[in-house]
Amino acid sequence: MKQYPVHRAAALKPKPDPDTLVFGKVFTDHMFLMDYTAGQGWHDGRIVPYGPIPLEPSAMVFHYAQEVFEGMKAYRAPDGGVQLFRPMENVKRINSSCQRMCIPQLPEEDALAAIEQLVQVEADWVPSKPGTSLYIRPFIIATTPSLGVHAAHNYIFCIIACPVGAYYAAGINPVRIYVESEDVRAVKGGTGYTKCGGNYAASIRAGERAEENGYAQVLWLDGVHRKYIEEVGSMNVMFKIDGKIVTPALTGSVLPGITRKSCLELLHSWNLPVEERLISAQELFDAADSGKLEEAWGTGTAAVISPIGEMGWEDRHITVCGGQIGPLSKNLYDTLTGIQWGNLPDPFGWVVKVV
Ligand SMILES: *Cc1c(COP(=O)(O)O)cnc(C)c1O
Repeated sequence: MKQYPVHRAAALKPKPDPDTLVFGKVFTDHMFLMDYTAGQGWHDGRIVPYGPIPLEPSAMVFHYAQEVFEGMKAYRAPDGGVQLFRPMENVKRINSSCQRMCIPQLPEEDALAAIEQLVQVEADWVPSKPGTSLYIRPFIIATTPSLGVHAAHNYIFCIIACPVGAYYAAGINPVRIYVESEDVRAVKGGTGYTKCGGNYAASIRAGERAEENGYAQVLWLDGVHRKYIEEVGSMNVMFKIDGKIVTPALTGSVLPGITRKSCLELLHSWNLPVEERLISAQELFDAADSGKLEEAWGTGTAAVISPIGEMGWEDRHITVCGGQIGPLSKNLYDTLTGIQWGNLPDPFGWVVKVV
């Protein structure tokens, strides 16, 4: 495996208190950088002290948002080791995002080596308190100084990392969700299946509106019919309706989550009936009204499983599972987190030890 040169920081920062960590505010001592130059390819991968990246104001990323990113975590195992969860899935997904955004793809093994080596260099930053982890943010930006609307000729691949506290420090609390009927996050043919900054920029207004109205997240509908459920906030979404697990199919506007994929693989291994298909808000609210909506939850790296306790849609309002976490959501949460933190066996070979 590739070994990148490491330029160590002259002074190391103090590690933050694991009890009061706020997501994404404190960054580790080092970062990974690699450059792309047209004609030369990806070159000069290196680990350097965390710090500003000089960019021209005309750098293309600032104007046309040619950018992709990933989100993953390193977990402290009970034996003191550090492990990643399905990291090659993140590498493959950033390359799929790159393809859509005309960004040159990363050599898979080199990208994985970069993630692993940065985590090894920053191993002391992986907290060990239950539920905590080191969040890893790989991203690629277009740096060519030009205002022409074309694919850039220069890019930077960067990886930064930040220790994060337990998502459910105060226990798992089901959230209130609002079905967004006006703004849409993505459309088929657009960039919904990629992790790109632009999708998030488009989602902020609805998120702020939902928060102002006392809801934690937005339930996104499809951009064409404004009818079919796609995602919840920046998570995939699943429902248990009349004994069956139903989740929106990956139609192009839905992000193919690694937590979603892992949940589906677990559910299949438990011999539970799973349907990946279109599901309308109408069907969902009708199921709730007739007592058939048993559970609802979001899936994503940050929360793993985020149970949904209440949903609002125009003038309709439903409560799910009495506002409590349901038994299946709990089982998925316990199993996935058990594997991720190394407290349960890993029958699927999902875990990659790096320290
Ligand atoms: C990252 C993301 C997800 C969840 O993906 P995971 O790989 O499970 O973390 C879901 N939806 C959107 C829009 C996302 O950006």
